[in-house]
Amino acid sequence: MLGAIVGDIVGSRFEFNNTDLYDFELFTQESSYTDDTICTIAIADAINRRNTRKDGDPCYAANLLRWCRKYPNPMGGYGGSFARWIQSEKPQPYNSFGNGSAMRVAPVAWAFNSLEEVRREAERTASVTHNHPEGIKGAVAVAHAIYSQRNGFNPGELERVGNLYYPGFLGATYTPGVFNETCQGTVPICLKIVRYSSSFEDAIRKAISWGGDSDTIGAIVGSIAEAAFGIPPEIYTTALGYLPEEMSWVIAKYFGNLNKASWI
Ligand SMILES: [Mg+2]
Repeated sequence: MLGAIVGDIVGSRFEFNNTDLYDFELFTQESSYTDDTICTIAIADAINRRNTRKDGDPCYAANLLRWCRKYPNPMGGYGGSFARWIQSEKPQPYNSFGNGSAMRVAPVAWAFNSLEEVRREAERTASVTHNHPEGIKGAVAVAHAIYSQRNGFNPGELERVGNLYYPGFLGATYTPGVFNETCQGTVPICLKIVRYSSSFEDAIRKAISWGGDSDTIGAIVGSIAEAAFGIPPEIYTTALGYLPEEMSWVIAKYFGNLNKASWI
């Protein structure tokens, strides 16, 4: 899930000012975390907290609400319907198929160790807001793609998984630079970008230079590319420097629970 945060921060300054350059600076003073990072942290925090609960309630909605209300004005803001959900007194799913369900799902793909659980939890993270079939599919597809690459880059498996959800996604024609905030207009492109990448940094650069919804494409590509290629330490260390301390604590606890705390 660090890949989602890296992609979000790198893409942040290009969301409303796209670039088609490949050799841009990854991190600058204009870079910031945005809603993609906040929501990813919220899902990780839900997983952290659920470990201490007995009733099995994943609390995805409660944690999304808590974190998003605490950070009401991130760079780039929140999507309109999601912003209303955050402020609602009785938040209900609103049948969204926006790509917000796909950009926040990465933590479940590492915290659960069977495909069945990963898919079930991905659906749960989506359905509190994005309960349209395409909204759920986008989250499940990304989580499945991450899970399929956890043992390293496996392009054949990535193609197989992609075709389960978006048949023919590799052969389809996509137009760069088009702003599309839907799952079905974002996730297949992200899968294709990772399929044709050779490293984490290559994937991130391809994602951002694609244009469109740059921070979210960066977050989704980053979350899958992290599994496929791993993240160079200097890249995730720089990204972590942009986060408030309380987000770093969530990340530390999350990785501690995975017994992978040695890097932090
Ligand atoms: Mg964003």
